[in-house]
Amino acid sequence: MRNIKDKHITILGAVRSGIAAAKLAKKMGAIPFVSDYSNKLSNIQELDANEIKYELGGHTDKVFDCEFIVTSPGVHSDASVIVDAKKQDIKIISEIEFASWFCKGSIIAITGSNGKTTTTSLCTHLLNNSGVKAYSAGNIGNAFSEIALDVEEDEFVALEVSSFQLDFIDSFKPKYTVILNITPDHLDRYENDFQKYTASKMRIFENQTDSDYLIINEDDEYLSNREHQKIMKYGFSLTPMNNSGCYIKDENFVYRNEESEEIICSTNSLKVKGEHNKYNAMATINLAKIIGIENNKIEESLKSFAGVEHRLESVREINGIEFVNDSKATNVDSVWYALRSFNNPLRLILGGKDKGNDYSSIVEQVKNNVKKIYAIGSSAEKIISYFVSMVEVEKMETLEGTVLKAYQEANAGDVVLLSPACASFDMFDSYEHRGKIFKQSVMKLEE
Ligand code: ADP
Repeated sequence: MRNIKDKHITILGAVRSGIAAAKLAKKMGAIPFVSDYSNKLSNIQELDANEIKYELGGHTDKVFDCEFIVTSPGVHSDASVIVDAKKQDIKIISEIEFASWFCKGSIIAITGSNGKTTTTSLCTHLLNNSGVKAYSAGNIGNAFSEIALDVEEDEFVALEVSSFQLDFIDSFKPKYTVILNITPDHLDRYENDFQKYTASKMRIFENQTDSDYLIINEDDEYLSNREHQKIMKYGFSLTPMNNSGCYIKDENFVYRNEESEEIICSTNSLKVKGEHNKYNAMATINLAKIIGIENNKIEESLKSFAGVEHRLESVREINGIEFVNDSKATNVDSVWYALRSFNNPLRLILGGKDKGNDYSSIVEQVKNNVKKIYAIGSSAEKIISYFVSMVEVEKMETLEGTVLKAYQEANAGDVVLLSPACASFDMFDSYEHRGKIFKQSVMKLEE
């Protein structure tokens, strides 16, 4: 554990992870100072209650009066405060780097473009269900700083790590790293540079050594072509492979370690839908096997995992029409997986704040399986002009109105799927808010 007693530390961002980092710094005897650009923040009383000094509504020079800066994932790496701190040679670290200094347990760091939250939850569920204490933290639920001191030496923390958190690591060294996939997302924050985005994600294992583990998706074109020689590498794939890891053969999850292989359980044990969830399960099976969990516990945990809200969440079936909430699908790749998860005819609700979407990868599936697209939000016109020659498309004003219209138009056996491929901020506070409005509208429908 690092000694930060009496050190002046600046924390940028006074939302969840920033406040947690400030409280952790205080507990460790340091003198934290929190600074936020906004002055509309809801949890500020927590800082008052902990006697932590702060400034809101802008950053003054007080920010630079410190030994180092802890930055929150919401603060852009190009923000002028970061640029100025760099000019002054002030060390800047991310909140997960900071929290990792004080965590005695093993870190399981999970990253990728899609599936982080689901895999983090499944991993924690599986370990706890098997009698091994594990916490979830990171972008999901608690900030890492919130729980870092609670994790004992023989316990685990499954950490959902975004690339923004990795931009400012230094000695962050997970025992286990999972990289689920790498597809273009958040390119807006990396100057539309795929190389920059991937380089940032690959930093997750830069401090790992030969006693650590790296688990990667062998079916991902980018990941399978990388060399990661220093580290014990395990893979996962939908088809049999020669290296160590987990794959699918004859509808079974199979685990292979060096020369021997064993069946873990049938893929039917996994209750959450879709091929993408098979990937998430295989990543988790790798971890479970390395940690030493028994196969029957793995099977039981796959059976009892109910999935995570807003990710292909089945909301209701009414008159034979199923409504599915996949509001978290904020990029085209997630929609690609969502469309593959259904054989039934689909009525797809698409649109929101566009992040530079290229819809070409879903064209085939839309042509084959989508009866109609309901286009919402500020990207509605782009969606209409892209898809109008392939399928019926209609511009809709509200999500509530869309749900009602889709219900009126649907036949028994259809699935109404909200899988928008876009961010939500043009119409909603967050993807959670969008998902909640969708669910409320579905619950209001009358038989
Ligand atoms: P993240 O935390 O990385 O955003 P989530 O688990 O919240 O990932 O899932 C985000 C969206 O991606 C959901 O629409 C979900 O159905 C889809 N998804 C989940 N796992 C994967 C995966 N392995 N590959 C592609 N899409 C996935």
